[in-house]
Amino acid sequence: MHKDMDALLRGLAGREDRVVALQSALTACPALGPDNGGDGEEAKAALITQWLEACGITDILRVDAPDSRVSSGQRPNLVARIPGRKKRTLWLFGHMDVVPPGDLSAWVSDPWQVRREGDLLYGRGVEDNQQAVTSMLLLAEELRQRGVTPELSLGLVFMADEETGSAYGLEHILKTAPELFSADDLYIVPDSGSRRGDVIEVAEKGQLWLKVRTTGVQCHASTPHKGRNAFLAGADMALACHNGLRSAFGDTNTLFSPPTSTFVPGKHEGNVPNINTVPGSDVFYVDCRLLPQVDPEAVLDKVRALAAEVEQNHGVQIAISVVQRQAASYIAGTSPVITALSAAIARVYGIEARTLGIGGATVAAQLRQRGLAAAVWSCLAGTCHQPNESSSITATIKDAQVFTHILMNPAHV
Ligand SMILES: [Zn+2]
Repeated sequence: MHKDMDALLRGLAGREDRVVALQSALTACPALGPDNGGDGEEAKAALITQWLEACGITDILRVDAPDSRVSSGQRPNLVARIPGRKKRTLWLFGHMDVVPPGDLSAWVSDPWQVRREGDLLYGRGVEDNQQAVTSMLLLAEELRQRGVTPELSLGLVFMADEETGSAYGLEHILKTAPELFSADDLYIVPDSGSRRGDVIEVAEKGQLWLKVRTTGVQCHASTPHKGRNAFLAGADMALACHNGLRSAFGDTNTLFSPPTSTFVPGKHEGNVPNINTVPGSDVFYVDCRLLPQVDPEAVLDKVRALAAEVEQNHGVQIAISVVQRQAASYIAGTSPVITALSAAIARVYGIEARTLGIGGATVAAQLRQRGLAAAVWSCLAGTCHQPNESSSITATIKDAQVFTHILMNPAHV
């Protein structure tokens, strides 16, 4: 077994050119979801299927989500499996869709054509999430070319729709084919991480997005006493949320960065088009990210209490509604996937990994909510969604080597 692992690791180390070829072909195939003005992931899925088939993988399942907005009528999801000596499976997840390039003048070169500079590849999607897709493919190809049967089974999931909500992606797979996944398996989502590869994301804060609508009385701005200024009351409410929620829910948890819950009044809708009218209506939104110990119902109660005070002070009505809500998710520090990843990272990167909780959201939350202990890990420069997005060839290969260690060396799990 050690001989097989050494051969795989050595083989992967020499696959620089293959990384460039895979990234170039993937980038030339812009997979934008219809919400982002694109035609979906079908062409990219076909490309990936072709590569998997070319290296002799026959167990490829399509779990498509119907979507009439794209020309194929389907948002493709691919589940490829390579059986190991054990039924227990290492699952890796990569999303095929990308975000639009944004301002083209900020790009040094064509975002849909990979440009290489030393160890770095530039192009839309190379990091988010083609680095994962590429390292998953490298691993599959290396296994098949050497005819190695891994210790654990390997499951590769190529998903649609990650950038626009995942309803047609992982959420659809988990809804329609939950039997694929078992609680005993290992789950890694390589879609976030640090530049050194030393951070394993194990927890995500809960999300609570609120819409705050204030209704007053519109009037001429020269006679403000005749109306009720909804903007002013709304501004008071925004400050009340900012200050009141932070002091009511100020607990800290050092696993997370930042270590507290956050409450951010941000988006504000336009009100009157002219200066000389007192607005009778005002709408703003609050983005709350809650530590696992904070009950979202308690936050809502507090927001309603703050609103009642502002209503009284300004003579207005305030309506609170929930735009989005997602529970916090986390896995136990003793989860086998953390032990396995830490050991593999120590071997490949020569560093000690640490666990971290974040305020952002990945598809790992959907796995965790179904009792599947998912860790988020990769070695990334952190250029996703930016112009001149980049990915390191070395990191792509090393990520694949980390997965190889876990796959071939289940002593850790
Ligand atoms: Zn991503």
